[in-house]
Amino acid sequence: MKIEAFFKLSYGLYVVSSAHDGKKNGFIGNTVFQVTATPSQIAIGCNKDNYTCSLIERSGMYSISVLKQDVKQDIIGTFGYHSGRDINKFEKTGHIETANNTPVVTEDCIAWFECKVVKQVDVGTHILFIAEVIENDLIEKDGEPLTYAYYHQVKKGLAPKNAPTYVDQKLLEKERSETSSGAKKYRCLACGYIYDPDEGDPDGGIAPGTPFEDIPDDWVCPTCGSTKEMFEPL
Ligand code: FE
Repeated sequence: MKIEAFFKLSYGLYVVSSAHDGKKNGFIGNTVFQVTATPSQIAIGCNKDNYTCSLIERSGMYSISVLKQDVKQDIIGTFGYHSGRDINKFEKTGHIETANNTPVVTEDCIAWFECKVVKQVDVGTHILFIAEVIENDLIEKDGEPLTYAYYHQVKKGLAPKNAPTYVDQKLLEKERSETSSGAKKYRCLACGYIYDPDEGDPDGGIAPGTPFEDIPDDWVCPTCGSTKEMFEPL
């Protein structure tokens, strides 16, 4: 199978959150889509290993926050590459709680939805939760939503291991090596971002053509915020 063909499927990127019995958590999800207009129903895919998945199963509620295109890397790093079993992801992130105690991330988000689960489908590694929208808000009318393509192409991010769209990065690199210039690339062990010297990291102040070794020590991974020590050569 051609791994890169899957990148042609388009998605947005969202924070999916839930709470039960005083515990709350959220994760970065891209499998989020509206399934009907009347009533307004939205489905999400959730890895069974995600802490949030068990919270949704028990509470029957979740929220979806639409991330804006220029979302801070901290938010993707916190919600996408850490487990809620280890940290309180909401501690440093702007959020609200609905009347039903559902946490909703609002920082760097342009809209949100609170949803009540009406059906769940076991699809193997993941559960598909179909839910009715019971409340929502538009935070930024003209805000640009972050798409998976933008995250992948511009921010150079890859899906975390629990995402339905996760790809094996070693296989991907093998596929890409046929067109590579041969410059030494480095991979972030935390999130899988690959630093390509040919492209640099212009948003992070690193010009194209900069070898990894010449990047200043205070530079951080544009996807998850990890420092240079977290990188290994490919
Ligand atoms: Fe990273």
